[in-house]
Amino acid sequence: MDEGYIKFQAKWEKAQSLSLERLENLIFWRDILYQKGLVGVYENGIGYGNISQRWNAQGQFIISGSMTGHLQTLSKEHFTLVTKVNIAKNTVWCEGPIIASSETMSHAVIYQECPEVESVMHVHHIKLWEKLLHKVPTTNASATYGSPEMAYSIIELLQKTDLRKQKIFVMEGHPEGIFVFGESLKEAADILLQQITYL
Ligand SMILES: [Zn+2]
Repeated sequence: MDEGYIKFQAKWEKAQSLSLERLENLIFWRDILYQKGLVGVYENGIGYGNISQRWNAQGQFIISGSMTGHLQTLSKEHFTLVTKVNIAKNTVWCEGPIIASSETMSHAVIYQECPEVESVMHVHHIKLWEKLLHKVPTTNASATYGSPEMAYSIIELLQKTDLRKQKIFVMEGHPEGIFVFGESLKEAADILLQQITYL
């Protein structure tokens, strides 16, 4: 299981955190994902899972920071604003108290392709991953987490499958990896929690 280390080139501008009020809903849902084990930490200390929320129509978004999966609850210091992404150059620009999640580019392409999307969540769940592999849209086996290949594979699914309706996909090249998204944080989380209920 590889996760946690950042593969993109980070242009991180250290800045103050956003207000707690602005992050409240994001923290609420992130902590539920943690309680369900969908975000967390492996025995080797590597954290997994990340969550984001749209900031504006230009596709900027707030995302949980790198290396936060092990924390039971997050605070405002654990979120950062992603201002720009260049997939071809494998580069991410962010502003905040923490560097953006290693999976930032995968979140970015969903906001860029789908103006209706307000929230994106990346979680790990081996049973659900096994169940949904090739049953729902599935990224290329050769695309590893947090890579430009992954971002391109997600764009392809958004354009060529009914992913925009299904709002859930699995990552064949990143075992356990699942993404959900929605027009609200609640919608994205509900899609996932419903899947877990019916496992
Ligand atoms: Zn992952």
